[in-house]
Amino acid sequence: MSYVFTPVPRPALPIKGSDQLFPVHRIYCVGRNYTEHTKEMGGDIKDPPFFFQKNPDNAVADGTFPYPPQTQNVHFEIELVVGLKSGGVNIEAAEAMSHVFGYAVGIDMTRRDLQDVAKKLARPWEVAKAFEHSAPMTAVVPAQHVESIAKGAIWLEVNGVRKQTGDLSQMIWDVPHQIEFLSTLFELKAGDLIFTGTPAGVGAIKKGDNIKGHVDGVGDLDVTVV
Ligand code: MN
Repeated sequence: MSYVFTPVPRPALPIKGSDQLFPVHRIYCVGRNYTEHTKEMGGDIKDPPFFFQKNPDNAVADGTFPYPPQTQNVHFEIELVVGLKSGGVNIEAAEAMSHVFGYAVGIDMTRRDLQDVAKKLARPWEVAKAFEHSAPMTAVVPAQHVESIAKGAIWLEVNGVRKQTGDLSQMIWDVPHQIEFLSTLFELKAGDLIFTGTPAGVGAIKKGDNIKGHVDGVGDLDVTVV
């Protein structure tokens, strides 16, 4: 059997130091995973983690972010991104890191005004989170080239001004426990990306802004808003 029309190509990300591509399956994102950001968003750090998804083709590593329609308030959220090479259900935290292919630096772009409306009306978050180009990324860095993601600086600058500063050790749910928790809800698969939450200091961007993001040991992201 053949397809009735040509399928859209599978989204994929470059891999640092390789001419192969990382094929993206799904994108999971954890909300409110750093204490200070949880407070700035009005959450309680004792709550269990919660997740939302972006669309796989929202991950783009071309260094640009087209300002999206239907919003006056797009916010950056700098995040460590984990890419899986295998998956499963009910993965224990102690085994979780064996499923990791590598890491990237990404931004969970958010139409905050639409998210505020969705929260108020108890509506889903897709219009706020899962729009075109909403996940600007670096290339994926294979895990064997990353010393540790248990700690290390994570920061973001807009036009050279520091906006977000944190440390990976400030995550409320660390990466193994995020994978454990997610795998009780979904069957994780090779190619899944997990956005692991953002430190405090989120804010708005506008056309023409240059955004620089950094995660120690993983790399630097450079994105221009067009
Ligand atoms: Mn986020």
